[in-house]
Amino acid sequence: MKATRLASALAVAAFGLASFSALADVPVPQDVPYQGTLQINVDATDLARRIFRVHQVVPATPGPLTLLYPQWLPGHHSPSGPIDKLAGLQVTANGKTLPWTRDPLNVYAFHVDVPAGASSVEVSFQFLSPQSTREGRVVMTPEMLNLQWNANSVYPAGYFSKRIMTQATVKFPAGWQFGTALEVESRDGDTVRFKPIAYDDLVDSPIYAGKYFKRVDLDPGAKVPVHLNIVADEAKYLETKPEQLKVHRNLVQQMYKLYGAHHYDHYDFLLSLSKKMSGQGLEHHRSSENGVSPGYFTEWDKNALGRDLLAHEFNHSWNGKYRRGADLTTPNFNVPMQDSLLWVYEGQTQFWGHVMAARSGLWTDEQARDMLAFVAATYDKGRPGLASWRNIQDTTNDPIIARRAPLPYRNYQGSEDYYSGGQMIWLDVDGKLRELSRDKHSIDDFAKAFFGMDSGQWAVNTYTFEDVVATLNEIEPFDWASYLRTRVDGHGSLIGGVASHGWKLVYTDKPSAAVKALEARRHSADLTYSLGLSLGKDGSVGDVLWDGPAFNAGISSGMTVVAVNGQDYGADALKEAVTASAKDKSLPIELLVKNFDRYKTVRIDYHDGLKYPHLVRDTSKPDTLSKLLKAR
Ligand SMILES: [Zn+2]
Repeated sequence: MKATRLASALAVAAFGLASFSALADVPVPQDVPYQGTLQINVDATDLARRIFRVHQVVPATPGPLTLLYPQWLPGHHSPSGPIDKLAGLQVTANGKTLPWTRDPLNVYAFHVDVPAGASSVEVSFQFLSPQSTREGRVVMTPEMLNLQWNANSVYPAGYFSKRIMTQATVKFPAGWQFGTALEVESRDGDTVRFKPIAYDDLVDSPIYAGKYFKRVDLDPGAKVPVHLNIVADEAKYLETKPEQLKVHRNLVQQMYKLYGAHHYDHYDFLLSLSKKMSGQGLEHHRSSENGVSPGYFTEWDKNALGRDLLAHEFNHSWNGKYRRGADLTTPNFNVPMQDSLLWVYEGQTQFWGHVMAARSGLWTDEQARDMLAFVAATYDKGRPGLASWRNIQDTTNDPIIARRAPLPYRNYQGSEDYYSGGQMIWLDVDGKLRELSRDKHSIDDFAKAFFGMDSGQWAVNTYTFEDVVATLNEIEPFDWASYLRTRVDGHGSLIGGVASHGWKLVYTDKPSAAVKALEARRHSADLTYSLGLSLGKDGSVGDVLWDGPAFNAGISSGMTVVAVNGQDYGADALKEAVTASAKDKSLPIELLVKNFDRYKTVRIDYHDGLKYPHLVRDTSKPDTLSKLLKAR
C-alpha cells in the first residue's frame, strides 16, 4: 500500500496534478491503452420510478482494481458528479460477489480485488433520477429522459479516459425515439447498441429520448450534418414554424462564417421542451443539451429571453470543447480541474451567444441591445462585490466554491461573473481592436484566428493566457496582456465597450421588454437600480444590493414584504410608491416586512424614482454595435 501511495505521489508530481489525488489510494491516470472494451448497458425503461439500471463488464486482471465514478464534470467545471444518486453497487467476478470498499479520502473511488483466473468484473448499480428538483436535476419523466453517461457508468482508474474504449447499449421505453451524437451500430426492438467510442467521448455524448420526438435537419445537403433533436412534454409543443427553423438554420451558417472551420463530423442539438424535466444548458463537442420551457416554439414571442441558449452551447464546440483552457484539460474525470481561463471559455462564449442570437435572427437588434443594457447595468451598479473585494479572475473559482447553490448576497459575493463580466470584457476588446485598426479589424478576426484552425480536427487543442495575448497581437499589436489583466484582476469598470461602440448606458423609469419578460418569467419585481432589491411572488425578498437603499434600511434577502405604505404588498403598489416618493419628496416608502416570526416597519429614504437600464445612441461616435450584430 505504501509503495503505491509513494508511486502515486511521484507520478502526480510528474504530471503536475494536484496533491489531492495523491492522498487517496487511487492509481494515477496514464496515457496508455486500456486492454479490452468497457461494456456499459443501461436499462432506461423504469419511468414510473425514475430509475436507470446500469450493468457493466469491466475487463480486468487479477489483483487490485479501482473503479471511479466521474467526479469532475466538463461543462460544469466542478466536482459535481451526482454520486449521491448512485445506489445498489454490486461487483462480481466469475459469478461470485466481490466485496468493495470506498476510498476514505475519495468517495468517488471504489476498490475491489479481482480474483485469480478472472479476466473481467461485472458491475451493476442504479442511478436514481431525482424525483423532484429539491433532490437535483430531474432527468426522467413519463415523456422523456436525459441519459448522461457520467452518471450511468464507472470506469477503471489508471488510464487517460480517451484511452479506454467503450461500447454502450441502452434499452429505451417502448416506441421512444432519441437524439445523440453517438452512432448506432445495431438495434433489437427498443434496445440500441452504439458503435464503440472512447470513454472521454462517450461521456461527452449524452442522449435525449422521448415519447414525443422530432428531428430537424438544420443544414440540408451539407456533408457535415447538423440536426435539432426535440423532445417535448406533449406532441403539440413540437410544432415549429418555417421562420423559426430558418433562424436556427441561420445560426449554423453564421457560426461557419465566423469561424471558417468546425471541429466535428456531425452535430446534434438536443432540445427538451418541458415543465417536468429540469432545464439545462450543457455543451459537448458534437452535441449540446438544451432544456427550455415547453413554449419555446409555440409561444415564441414570450420566450425571447433565453433564446441565446443554443447559440451559446453551439459556440462551445469551438471554444471550450475543441479549444480549452490548458489547466482545465484533465486526463480523466477524477483529476481536479482548474478554471482560471473560464473568462475566455465562458466569457467569450457568452459574448458570441448574444451576438450570434442577433446575427442569426433569433433576436432582433433591439432585443440584443436590451439584453446588453441589462448585462452592462449589472457591471455598472449591480456587482458591488466586484468593486470592493473580488475580481473576475477570482470568480472563476465559483463552480467549485458554490456549485450554483443559492447565495444570501449574490451581488456582493459574486457568482460566476466570468460569464457576463467576461462578455463585457470581450465587447471592450472588440472596441479596442476597431479603434486600433480604424475599424478594419474586430473580434471576428480573433475568433477565426483562435478557434477556426484545422477544420475537421477534434482532438482537444489547449490554450493559455499567453496564447490569447499572442493572437490578439497578431491582429493588432498592443499591450494586450496589461489590457486584459487590468480588467480580469482589477476592480475598475468593465463596461467601456458600450461607449466604444457608440452607445450610452442610461437609466429611465420604464423597464425594457427584456426586464418585463424577466419579471414575468420569475414572477418578480426588479428594483435593483432604484430601491436596490428584487422581490419574488408575494413579496419575498430576493437579492438585496449591498449598501443600497433597501440594504441600508435593514432589509435582507429571505424577508417578506407584507405591506407597502399600509396596504397589502403588490409589485405595482411598490412601484407606485417609488414613483410617488420621487415626485413628492415628503412621501414615504414604508414597508412592513416579516423576518421569521417578527414584523417590523422599515422606512426607505429613497426619492430618485424607478430606474431601469437602456442603451441609447451616442451620435458623436459611429455605431459599431449595430455592425457587430449584423448578419455576415
Ligand atoms: Zn457556457
